[in-house]
Amino acid sequence: APLVIAMDGPSGTGKSSAARRLAGSLGAAYLDTGAMYRVATLHALRAGVDLTDAGAVDHATRELPLVIGTDPTHELVELAGEDVRVEIRGAAVTGAVSAVSAVPAVRERLVAAQRALVEQAGRIVVEGRDIGTVVLPAADLKVYLTASAQARAARRADQDGSADRAAVLADVQRRDHLDSTRVASPLRPADDAVTVDTSEIDLDGVLDRLHALVQQ
Ligand code: C5P
Repeated sequence: APLVIAMDGPSGTGKSSAARRLAGSLGAAYLDTGAMYRVATLHALRAGVDLTDAGAVDHATRELPLVIGTDPTHELVELAGEDVRVEIRGAAVTGAVSAVSAVPAVRERLVAAQRALVEQAGRIVVEGRDIGTVVLPAADLKVYLTASAQARAARRADQDGSADRAAVLADVQRRDHLDSTRVASPLRPADDAVTVDTSEIDLDGVLDRLHALVQQ
């Protein structure tokens, strides 16, 4: 039977690890929509456009030779045939992605691509910021992961191997602020989403919670 799960929330909540593991254990596909916005951002950066100019960003990303895999056990992200998995997680892209993802025309194209991938997969866990609210309003289960800013900064610092907690916290808060105050599809829980606070629970605990929600 088809099973579509939407997972939204800010960065550093353990969302990606939880979504990928949930998909793996359900034998479902997995889609990281943040990676798609990151690839669009890398493409715009390489084109050298002014990221504060929405028209220029729209134009520069109209042609986006992006390939994204949906196998939870094998990450595949390509831009024009080039493996960009590492580069899209770098500081340049992370610093610019909020500007690019705020452009409505960019979102429209990526949302259409996301819906097509979901259609193809049938059973899938999709993670992002607007999956339950905009991309898949009819999802079977919507989960909104949250955590305190401190917990999220600590996770991010561990992931990136960064020693500067204060800088990581500032960056997490800056990106959340931009993502939740933008006009186009701001980050917020869907009315019918179940909120899970991961500040005090580890990944196994989160997975237990998610499996219980899927069973309901
Ligand atoms: O999840 P990740 O941190 O990789 O997402 C990077 C950025 O992409 C977010 O900060 C947000 O600006 C944007 N994004 C979005 N909508 C999504 C997924 C990501 O706007 N569905």
